[in-house]
Amino acid sequence: MPTQQQVEQNSGQFEVHDPTILAGARRIIEACQSLEEMQAAVVAAVKRNEEWRGQRCINLLAPEAPTSPTVRALLASEVGTRAAEGHIGAVNRWFAGTQYIDEIEALCMELLKKAFRANYADHRLIASMIGNMTVYTALAEPGDIIMSAAQPVGGHSSNRPDGPAGVRGLNIVDIPFDPVELEVDLDLFRRMAPLVRPKLVTLGLSMTLFPFPIRAMHDIVAEWGARIFFDGAHQLGLVAGGQFQDPLREGAAVMTGSAGKTFSGPQSGIIVWDDPALTEPMTHAIFPVLAATHQVNRVAALAVSAAEMITFGQAYMAQIVRNAQALGAALQERGIPMLGSHKGFTRTHQTIANVRQFGGGLEVAQRLARANLITNKNLLPDDQPADWDRPSGLRLGTIEVTRLGMKEAEMETIAAFIGRVLVENEAPESVLEEVIEFRLPYQTVYYCADNGLPA
Ligand SMILES: *Cc1c(COP(=O)(O)O)cnc(C)c1O
Repeated sequence: MPTQQQVEQNSGQFEVHDPTILAGARRIIEACQSLEEMQAAVVAAVKRNEEWRGQRCINLLAPEAPTSPTVRALLASEVGTRAAEGHIGAVNRWFAGTQYIDEIEALCMELLKKAFRANYADHRLIASMIGNMTVYTALAEPGDIIMSAAQPVGGHSSNRPDGPAGVRGLNIVDIPFDPVELEVDLDLFRRMAPLVRPKLVTLGLSMTLFPFPIRAMHDIVAEWGARIFFDGAHQLGLVAGGQFQDPLREGAAVMTGSAGKTFSGPQSGIIVWDDPALTEPMTHAIFPVLAATHQVNRVAALAVSAAEMITFGQAYMAQIVRNAQALGAALQERGIPMLGSHKGFTRTHQTIANVRQFGGGLEVAQRLARANLITNKNLLPDDQPADWDRPSGLRLGTIEVTRLGMKEAEMETIAAFIGRVLVENEAPESVLEEVIEFRLPYQTVYYCADNGLPA
């Protein structure tokens, strides 16, 4: 139990976090008599997650990927305790003793270039958010106008007023978007852009189903020297595996993205570009502006995941997309309305359900989680700002189930579980045991040196 003093101290204290969960942690710490007990409390929570989320859940979160055993092992490597800021090479570093770190970082950078067929790559972004801030620092000035997509059509906060783009002081105009075709409204963009004259146009979405008209948009804005920035947070693996459009080849000046989404590496950021004129501003924005110590253990893990993408990216990503299409079709067949059903559901790793009639995204995601089916609530194009905490959509991604070796037939089974809970109104608890039984045989990760391709 917390002491009287703590209750008083904390009851008047503003918290954005759930105060009940924080109070629970304080109670545990209060009851601990030693380091060993505090340590055991942390380790036990990690273990509970590993057994539940890692072994007994069907994880359909679109931004998560299981890493290979080698990548995971490297995250705990000795080099993770070493500080190496600056650029690669003795004269570019503050610290001596970095010759092997230089080797690791150079391998990572060259593997990233190869994976994305790009002239330049950087490995020092601890998150894709930092990658986007790098672009807004290097290629825009406070007061500049940019265009990006709003959240309800899939846009991400990092490119909006409430994220790095806003903090950088940019003026943000919405890219017109067709809410039915789930694509940029190119005709409207063609008319709007010359009036707005943005310095940058940010493409790439969190809710992302279909490709973007990058080339056409590039040609429109090139007239006044503007650039296309592709935020490929979600699509990076698909791009590397040749299963989506190739933004750098289609006119994007720079691409950022999350290493831990489809790319299936350690959670962090990646940035690539081709034009040598961008190298100085971009690398200066990374160091010394936005990154110092950049976790060399993570860099080593990222290097291996890039090698995995070079080797298995095509097969792995093609199966991810086939699985997403199969899952979308199977859910629609069971009476769950899916976005883009008139055009094959998706060309990515995601498929989006409209679950308004089943109680909305928040309620549905919580209900499915009681059956160990992990998804996320998602805004839909016709959701209003008032709906943001309780949006109408549900996003389902196929990265993890694919890396565990599942194919189209297994997507049918997963859709059946979801249909029983949502459409047939079965209690999640009555589906739970079958979900666990279905999941338990899939405990191996494929598309890596340890396992290769599933049969
Ligand atoms: C997830 C996401 C980000 C942020 O990526 P992190 O790796 O979590 O920092 C940025 N942009 C888009 C479009 C995203 O979906």
